[in-house]
Amino acid sequence: MTETLDKNSVRNYDIEELKRLDKAHHWHPFTDTKALHQEGGARVITRAEGCYLYDGDGNKMLDGMAGLWCVNVGYGRQELAEAAYRQMLELPYYNTFFKTATPPAIELSAKIASLMGENFNHIFYSNSGSEANDTVLRMVRHYWNLKGKPNKKTIISRWNAYHGSTVAGASLGGMKAMHKQADLPIPGITHVMQPHWFDNAEPGESREDFGMRAAHAIEQRILELGPDNVAAFIGEPVQGAGGVVIPPSTYWPEVQRICEKYDLLLIADEVICGFGRTGSWFGHQTLGFTPDLVPMAKGMSSGYLPISALAVSDKVAQVLFEKGGEFYHGYTYSGHPAACAVALKNIEIMEREHLVEKVRDETGPYLAEALATLRDHPLVGETRTLGLLGAVEICKNKETRQRFADVGKVGTICRDHIMKLNAIARACGDTMVVSPPFIIEKSQIDDLVAALRAALDATAADIERLGL
Ligand code: PMP
Repeated sequence: MTETLDKNSVRNYDIEELKRLDKAHHWHPFTDTKALHQEGGARVITRAEGCYLYDGDGNKMLDGMAGLWCVNVGYGRQELAEAAYRQMLELPYYNTFFKTATPPAIELSAKIASLMGENFNHIFYSNSGSEANDTVLRMVRHYWNLKGKPNKKTIISRWNAYHGSTVAGASLGGMKAMHKQADLPIPGITHVMQPHWFDNAEPGESREDFGMRAAHAIEQRILELGPDNVAAFIGEPVQGAGGVVIPPSTYWPEVQRICEKYDLLLIADEVICGFGRTGSWFGHQTLGFTPDLVPMAKGMSSGYLPISALAVSDKVAQVLFEKGGEFYHGYTYSGHPAACAVALKNIEIMEREHLVEKVRDETGPYLAEALATLRDHPLVGETRTLGLLGAVEICKNKETRQRFADVGKVGTICRDHIMKLNAIARACGDTMVVSPPFIIEKSQIDDLVAALRAALDATAADIERLGL
C-alpha cells in the first residue's frame, strides 16, 4: 500500500466550496431540496472511524444507525479496503452473464449458502436491496408460470413495509407517501396490517393474540382474492424503516402455516435483518420460520461497496432450472468481483471477531436494558429491541398509547435534537430507532441512550412551547 492509501492521511477539504457545489448540483435522495437549501445546506461527512463520523465543520458524531443500517463491522476497516484494492488490480470487473464467473462471486455464493442452512443453495446477485426485490418479483412470476399456475400473481405485503425505491420495490413496500408520488403500487400487489402491537392492538389485547390476528389478516386477504390468484407473501422479519416493528412470537410461525396451507411462496426481506443484526446470521433464524426466497444487502458488505443478493431455496431453484430455460434477467454488475471480495472479507471479519454472537449475547441485551431505562420518560410509551435493532415509541398518552396529532412531527423534532447533540438516531414517524454498528461498546450505548434522553427532554419542552 502506498502512503496515499493510508487511512490516517486525512484530506483537507474546502467545506464551504463543497457546500456551494452541493447546493448547485447534487440532488439528494429522500430530501426536501427547498427546505435543505433554506436550512443552510447539507452536512458534509468527510471521514469515519469505528462508530464515529466526522463532518467538515469539525463535529464528531456517534453513528447510532450504522449509516443506513449497514456498516455492521464499523468504519475504517483497512482489510476491506485492501480486499477491494487487491481484487481491482487482479480483475476489477467481469460479468457473470453467458456462462462466465469470477472467483469472488463463486466463493461468496458458497459462503452465503453455508450461512443460510440446508434449504438454500443458490444465490443470484444484484447491487441494492431494491434490485434484489425486483429480482424477487420477476422470479416469483416466472415460478408460478412455469408451475402452470399463471393466475397466481398477487403478492401480499404490509402497510409501512420498506422493500426499496424502484418501481417494484416501492410497490412491494407499503409507504403511502411513496405510492402517491408515482401512482403505485403496480397491479398485483396488495397490503395488509403490519404486526405492530403498539399501534394496532385493541385495548387489552395481548401481544400473542394480536400476533395471531395480524397473521390472520393475511389469510383473510388470501381468501378474498382466492388462493389460486395469490403468489406470495413478503415481509421483513423485523420491519426496519416502518419503525423497528418486532412481531409477537406468534406471528411468523402462523404466517408460515398460512403460506403452506394456501401454497404461497414466503419471502423474508433480510436487507436489514441479514448478516447478524438480530443476533443470528439471518432474521428468520432468530424468529423461527423458513422462507422460500431471501433478498439481502446492506450488512453483506457492511456498506463498503454496493452489493445485494437473492438466496433461492431448492424448491424454487429446481423449478426454474428444470423447466425455465434462460432466465432473461440480470444486471451488468451482478456478482461484481470487487464487491464480492469485500463481502467475503466482511463475513470473515464477522466470524473471526464473533460479532453475531456478540450481538446476541452482549451488545443486544445491553441495548435492551439501556433503552428500557427511558421508559420512565413522560413521552415514552414503549421501548423494544431485537439484537441491535431498537425502538423508542413517542406518544401523547402512555396509558392509552395515543399518538400526537400529525404523526412524524414530534419524531422529527426529536431526531433534529439528537443530531444537534452529535448522535445519530432516526425518526420513523414518531418512533425513534437505532441500529448501531456491531462493534459498539457498552459505554457508547450509554452515550447513545443519554443523547436520546436529552433529545426527549428537549422535545418535551418544544411540545409544551408549541402546544402540540
Ligand atoms: N428492503 C429493506 C428491508 C430495506 O430496509 C431496504 C433499504 N432500507 C431495501 C429493501 C432497499 O435497499 P436499497 O436502498 O439498497 O435499494
